[in-house]
Amino acid sequence: MRFRYTLAAALLALAVLLIGGRFLESFRAPSGPARTQVPDGLEQVAPTSTPESAPAAQETPPSLAPSPWSARNKAGIDALDKEAFEEAAEHFAACLTARPDEAVYAHNLAETYARWAMFLHDGDAWDRTRSIDLLQQAVDLHPERLDLPGLLERYRRSEEAEEGFFTRHTLHFEVAFDLNRTEVRTDVQTLVMALEDAYLEYGEWFGTRPADHGQPIRVVIYTQEGFSAVTQVGAWAGGVYDGTIRVPLTDLSRELVRVVSVLRHELLHAFVDGAGGGAVPGWLNEGLAQWLERGPRGPAAGDLERARMAMGTARPFPLDQLKGSLAKWDDPKAIERAYAQSLLFVAHMESHFGAPLLREMIECGPKGDTPRAVFKARVGLELDSVLADVFPPR
Ligand SMILES: [Zn+2]
Repeated sequence: MRFRYTLAAALLALAVLLIGGRFLESFRAPSGPARTQVPDGLEQVAPTSTPESAPAAQETPPSLAPSPWSARNKAGIDALDKEAFEEAAEHFAACLTARPDEAVYAHNLAETYARWAMFLHDGDAWDRTRSIDLLQQAVDLHPERLDLPGLLERYRRSEEAEEGFFTRHTLHFEVAFDLNRTEVRTDVQTLVMALEDAYLEYGEWFGTRPADHGQPIRVVIYTQEGFSAVTQVGAWAGGVYDGTIRVPLTDLSRELVRVVSVLRHELLHAFVDGAGGGAVPGWLNEGLAQWLERGPRGPAAGDLERARMAMGTARPFPLDQLKGSLAKWDDPKAIERAYAQSLLFVAHMESHFGAPLLREMIECGPKGDTPRAVFKARVGLELDSVLADVFPPR
């Protein structure tokens, strides 16, 4: 997510008046299950990545152990692990038909529908209508799953907010917007070019590219009302990445520079997700997004100065407090400081230890390592001691 300029202006009227600048934006949260991306702060909405069905322990109840349905259930779990949703659903549905009172089969089928729905909602096979239909079936099958109704509600809200949207397909993106908004239609090419440029730039930085497996990155441009309805994040957020890049705008012709910056910021989150999955700490993810949103050479001196002003004499947040999303934080001043701290810390890391180390810290999760351990192994210092150096007591 990205902190919103105009909001910061409202919140920090005096400071902004004095510095004549804008402020950093929001945070982003980890993502959902089926795919690795997690939304800025929306992760809580999505089911956990581990289907309750999937653990082998949950396979088949002992009372049914000898039945052929236990093997069929196991085949369903295997299919689900491979994201072969249709096949998994067939297996679980057959089990459920034969043993309608067996809750495990209903729950496994519900999990399959839920993951399938998420795959269709955020993935390359994008089909919202089907996705909503599947998720509704999951809710009906497993009403005790408290995370699913909220997700269904969110899908319905985005369906409503994006009704009639036109989707423009580009090399690596699909950009959805309301064709009736003349100013968006007029300037959308500028946004597309900025996105494609940033895609190449980040691709070089990371060495991996999230759309290279044929799945375009979805970008949706909303009105402020539509954005708030879909994301339900605080008004401080200038954009969100939750598997889809979502950006609100009021008058593109006046906001072009800001919107391009927000798109670059959110796209960086897509790259981080592709490279490191959902385990990348919030401070690293947000710090890097702010660091690169202005261009490959990082932020201008003024950006860093504004971040220092936002920190003031406050003590830095412990890194563990900045591990996850800030979406649930409700104190705008604290959110602003968290963003400022993340930017300053990442800028320090980049200048003292180099971009390759930052990259390694992002990519270490899927290899079973942690950024803290990687940093210690490479530099011989604890991350926290570097944090204390960057923000000495005053
Ligand atoms: Zn962000």
